[in-house]
Amino acid sequence: MDGVIIVGGGPAGSAMGSYLSMAGIPNIILESANHPRPHVGESMVTSSTRVFKEIGFLETMEREGFIHKFGASWHAPNGKEFAIEFAEFPQQGIDQDYTYHVDRSKFDLLMLKHAEKLGSKVYQGVHVKNILFEGDQAVGVRVKIADVETEMFAPVIVDATGRGTLIGNQLKTKKKDTYFNQYAVHAWFENVQRGNGHTADFIHIYFLEVERGWVWQIPITDEITSMGVVADKNVLRGDHADIESFFYKHLSTNPDLVSAMADARRINEFKTEGDYSYSLEKFVGNGFLCIGDAARFVDPIFSSGVSVALYSAKYASMEIKRAFELKDFSAEIFQPYEDKVRSGVSVWYEFIRLYYKLLPLFTHFIQSKKHRLEVLRLLQGEVYERGEVPVLDAMRQYIKAVEASDSHILKDRLTGVPID
Ligand SMILES: Cc1cc2nc3c(=O)[nH]c(=O)nc-3n(C[C@H](O)[C@H](O)[C@H](O)COP(=O)(O)OP(=O)(O)OC[C@H]3O[C@@H](n4cnc5c(N)ncnc54)[C@H](O)[C@@H]3O)c2cc1C
Repeated sequence: MDGVIIVGGGPAGSAMGSYLSMAGIPNIILESANHPRPHVGESMVTSSTRVFKEIGFLETMEREGFIHKFGASWHAPNGKEFAIEFAEFPQQGIDQDYTYHVDRSKFDLLMLKHAEKLGSKVYQGVHVKNILFEGDQAVGVRVKIADVETEMFAPVIVDATGRGTLIGNQLKTKKKDTYFNQYAVHAWFENVQRGNGHTADFIHIYFLEVERGWVWQIPITDEITSMGVVADKNVLRGDHADIESFFYKHLSTNPDLVSAMADARRINEFKTEGDYSYSLEKFVGNGFLCIGDAARFVDPIFSSGVSVALYSAKYASMEIKRAFELKDFSAEIFQPYEDKVRSGVSVWYEFIRLYYKLLPLFTHFIQSKKHRLEVLRLLQGEVYERGEVPVLDAMRQYIKAVEASDSHILKDRLTGVPID
C-alpha cells in the first residue's frame, strides 16, 4: 500500500491512525488482540485533552461518562494528605480543568473505533511477527492471521506495539533502565472508601516505607476502584511472598489505606507488571518510527504513559506527513520527532527520578508558594518544547545540599545512589 502500516491498536496506534487519516494519508492498524482487552494505565493527565480535541475524540470521552479527574492526592505514612487540583493552573488550548480515569478495555476500543471512523483500516486478531527490511530500510511486515502467514508492504511502518517493543526486540535496540526496576501488583475492588468530598474522584497515591514503594487508588466507575502496589523488584524478592501476600502486606502499612480498604472486595484477578522501565537506542530509522511504549517507558508514578503515547503519535504523524510530501522516508526526516519526544520524556524521567530520590522534597515543593505551579504544570503533562525546567534544577540543588550535609533532617530519607 502507498501509506502507513501501524502495528498495535492501543492509544498510540489509534491516535496515529486518526492523525494520519486527518492528513489524508492512508493507513492500516494491525492489532494482535481482539478489543475490548484489559490493560494497565487507567488514570490520565490533563495534557491528553489537547490530543482528544485535535482528533475529535473529546465528545466521545464526555458521552461515555468516564470519571472526571480533577486532581491528585498524596498520602504520607503519618496520615498527612497533600492534594493538587488541575484548575490551579490553566493550560493553553485546554478549556476544561479535569482529565479522566478510564476502564482501558473500553477506552482503547473507543479510540480504535474512532480511528476507524476517521479512515484507518483496522484489522484485529492479526499478530505482526516481524518487520521486513531491505538493507536497513523497513519495507513491510510479516503477519500471522490464524495459522496463515503473509507479508504486507508500505513505505512507512509505525511500531505502536507498547511494551511488546517489536522493533526494539528485533533490532536489539531496547535497553533496560539502569536506575528503575519496579514491579506492580494490581486488581479492581468494590467498596473502597475513596475519601470524602471533592477529592473522592482524584487519583490517590499512598506512600509506602519501602524502596520506591507506593499504592495507586484510581476510580474506574462509581463502584469500582483500581488498586495497585508498586515497589522496587528487590522488595518483592526480599519479601519472599506470593503476589497476594505482597499486595496485602504493603497495603497494611499506611493507615489511610487501611481505612480505605476496610470493606473492600476484590472483583477480578491480581495482575502483575515488571521490567517496564527501558528505552530504545533509536526511536526512528529508515522507513520506521516507534511511538508510545514501543519507544520508551519510564514509570507510572505520575500517570504519564497514555499522554506520552498520544503526543508521540501527534509528533510522529507530523514528520510522516512531511515524509510523504517530500517522498523521502529516511531516518533523517523522522529525526525531529525523536528529538522532541526524547526531550519531553526526559523531563518526566528527571522529575520521577528526583521524586523517588527524596519523597519529602516532593511534598515540600508542592506546598511551596514558589514552586507549586511549576510542579503542577509538570503533573499536567506539559513537558514538551520546554527548554529549561527550572523547578527540576531547584529540586536537584536541594537534594545535593541534603547529600552534602552531615546533619540535614532529611538525610536518612534519601534513597538510592547519589544524584550526579
Ligand atoms: C504498573 C503500570 C501502571 C501504569 N499506570 C498508568 C496510568 O495510571 N496512566 C497512564 O497514562 N499510563 C499508565 N501506565 C502506562 C500505560 O499503560 C502505557 O504507557 C500506555 O498503555 C501506552 O500505550 P501504547 O499505545 O503505546 O501501548 P499499549 O497500550 O500497550 O498498546 C499496544 C498494542 O499493541 C498490540 N500489539 C503488541 N504486539 C503486537 C504485535 N506483534 N502485532 C500486533 N499488535 C501488537 C497490543 O495488543 C496492544 O493492544 C502504566 C504502566 C504500568 C506498567
